[in-house]
Amino acid sequence: MSNTDFVLAIEDLTVSFDGFKAIDTLNLYIDREELRVIIGPNGAGKTTLLDLICGKTRASGGSIKFKNTEITRMAEHKIVRAGVGRKFQTPSIYENLSVFKNLEVSFPQGRSVFGALRFKTSTEVIARIHAVAEEIGLEALLHTEAGLLSHGQKQWLEIGMLLMQEPELLMLDEPIAGMSARERELTAELLQRICRKRSMIVIEHDMEFVRRIAHKVTVMHQGKILAEGSMDKVQNDAKVIDVYLGH
Ligand code: ADP
Ligand code: MG
Repeated sequence: MSNTDFVLAIEDLTVSFDGFKAIDTLNLYIDREELRVIIGPNGAGKTTLLDLICGKTRASGGSIKFKNTEITRMAEHKIVRAGVGRKFQTPSIYENLSVFKNLEVSFPQGRSVFGALRFKTSTEVIARIHAVAEEIGLEALLHTEAGLLSHGQKQWLEIGMLLMQEPELLMLDEPIAGMSARERELTAELLQRICRKRSMIVIEHDMEFVRRIAHKVTVMHQGKILAEGSMDKVQNDAKVIDVYLGH
């Protein structure tokens, strides 16, 4: 394919695990500043798709282009450096460090051969920490130990740690799992805010939440795309009702 304006262009992507195709000739195109939600039954291949995009799993075939650069066979850390951030289902914050320190160690240039915790904080880093903390709603808690945060606040901190790297594509796998109603509401607002400057792919099951945040919805089933479009379109799609929403 020739150059496009898509931030992410996936074509004929396939991955087999011992002959089982977890992703099967899948095509997906994400626009700049788009918030795409991926839904689908358990085992549909949603998490595997994110694993392929971030380089954790290697494709058996097909192509993944990020800003027109082939990343299909790029090393995981290089994909991060290129501008792709990915949050896993379980948070990976430093519980015994403050919110401030957690953000500080996530600043991309901060890592030296002596380890992440040893570098001097420049005014640029401090400014970024405050901007990110404000964005994730944790500014008043900058000096609180991360282990003392609520479950939802820990999730936001981890999103903040990804934002420190200023990704152009941010991918979140089930970000509101285990959150209270109020935390889900605040997360919807947070995601709407942060996609003004970047593209996002969010995997989620909570349809009320999906309706609130999605620009477009992709429904996956058996490693393929079953339906794609507006929330109303996919919710009224007979195939989608049959394999997913009807249960
Ligand atoms: P989802 O996130 O949509 O629930 P997954 O992407 O986790 O689905 O899984 C899709 C399918 O691929 C499942 O059948 C799962 O068991 C299988 N699978 C995922 N990762 C691996 C792996 N590393 N090795 C073998 N099978 C895998
Ligand atoms: Mg999954």
